[in-house]
Amino acid sequence: MAIRFLNTYTRALEEFQPLDAAGKQVKIYTCGPTVYNYAHIGNFRAYLFEDLLQRHLEARGYEVNRVMNLTDVDDKTIRGCRAAGIPLTQFTQKFKDAFFEDLKALRIKPATTYPSATDPVYIARMIAMITQLIDNGYAYQAEDKSIYFRLNKFADYGKLAHLNLEELRPTGRIANDEYEKESVGDFALWKAWDEADGDVKWPSPWGQGRPGWHIECSAMSTALLGDEIDIHCGGVDNIFPHHEAEIAQAECCTGHKFVRTWLHCAHLMVEGQKMSKSAGNFFTLRDLLDKGWTGREIRYVLFSVNYRLPLNFTFESLAAARSALGRIDAWVERLAKESAGAPQASAHPLGEAASRFAEALDDDLNISGALGVLFETIRETNRTFDKGELTPADAKAILAAWEKINTVLQFQKDEAAAVPQDVQALVDARAAARAAKNWALSDELRAKIDAAGWFVKDSKDGQTVTRK
Ligand code: AMP
Ligand code: ZN
Repeated sequence: MAIRFLNTYTRALEEFQPLDAAGKQVKIYTCGPTVYNYAHIGNFRAYLFEDLLQRHLEARGYEVNRVMNLTDVDDKTIRGCRAAGIPLTQFTQKFKDAFFEDLKALRIKPATTYPSATDPVYIARMIAMITQLIDNGYAYQAEDKSIYFRLNKFADYGKLAHLNLEELRPTGRIANDEYEKESVGDFALWKAWDEADGDVKWPSPWGQGRPGWHIECSAMSTALLGDEIDIHCGGVDNIFPHHEAEIAQAECCTGHKFVRTWLHCAHLMVEGQKMSKSAGNFFTLRDLLDKGWTGREIRYVLFSVNYRLPLNFTFESLAAARSALGRIDAWVERLAKESAGAPQASAHPLGEAASRFAEALDDDLNISGALGVLFETIRETNRTFDKGELTPADAKAILAAWEKINTVLQFQKDEAAAVPQDVQALVDARAAARAAKNWALSDELRAKIDAAGWFVKDSKDGQTVTRK
């Protein structure tokens, strides 16, 4: 079965066909963070859906060239650096560094390139694109000296967001980077310097100023990936005005279709509201790590709901992720133990889990279906093991399936999560104490394990130890 995606532009489920004539390379542009603060886990939901997209395409044999921009100049970054009283570059660097640390904690595969909007190469390209738009009648300079895109020159404006411009009756010019559909209007490509910008400014043929947010992405996408790309992603809040503006700018400059497939993830919600900085209802990754949750657990929560469905964030979901990962860990450990010494894998049907998992993802990244395959496989494996019907070669086949599945999920327990030697020594001593029915010592050792930051649980198969 071919991969199919629900394209926001057409609202149709379409079979994926890369632009590359050889059918191998896939060009993806993903709108990155505005580096004026630590990214919140709502932002990371978007980046994790993009990680799923990239990893699944790679698992299917495609070579992904993915660009993620860093918005390091816009209304919000300028406000932030002025409030902090430091230069823009110094202000944004701190959040860029934090962003890369967070990506690592969440096991997100790095993009091929992370261009910054303020890189002189891209500022020059933005100026060149705006010049071209003015020369071709798509843009003009207004009395405020800023340059605006002329909406009524681009007949396709509004098609991505499915706007009816007649009904909306454009209200005039808008200088802000973000606004609601009700105030659709000629948007700013270049903003003339004013006092609120402090020393954030670049020279241009129209005087000192700075780019609008939207032109940044059109410039970086076409510079790094060419006029037309396969897939462009973001959260649904990016559809309007940002992506609508990106299409208008890019297509009026290049004369080519900009993007073949648009994919947008639904929001991460908190009590029925979008998680956002402005609503103040957000958690950063750091907030959750400080509370003792791991990057792997947070990845699980944000990754495991289909991207088109809103996801409600709760601490119960983190606890459920911890227990689901515990089940996976126990299963993988058991497979590793049982398959030890098997010379080769068998052709056991449970070893087909990896292809069934991938087939579920082919259907517009149906991660719920894919995880359904995984947990059904875990259940079946355990049942068959308990009946004594799995050979070491079967276990090896299932373990190989898991390794393939994990290239996409990245849920495998990492080395750092392995129990440290001193804690393991306490756990072993506790096993001996329990065997000798020395319950007082067992409790004492549990308290020590607990104090070291680990949680020990007893079952009929012995103790399981997890990081608290
Ligand atoms: P920003 O830094 O605001 O430009 O957002 C960066 C990315 O995060 C964009 O793709 C947004 O669409 C996405 N985003 C922001 N808030 C949420 C949320 N609550 N849930 C999912 N994605 C979000
Ligand atoms: Zn963008």
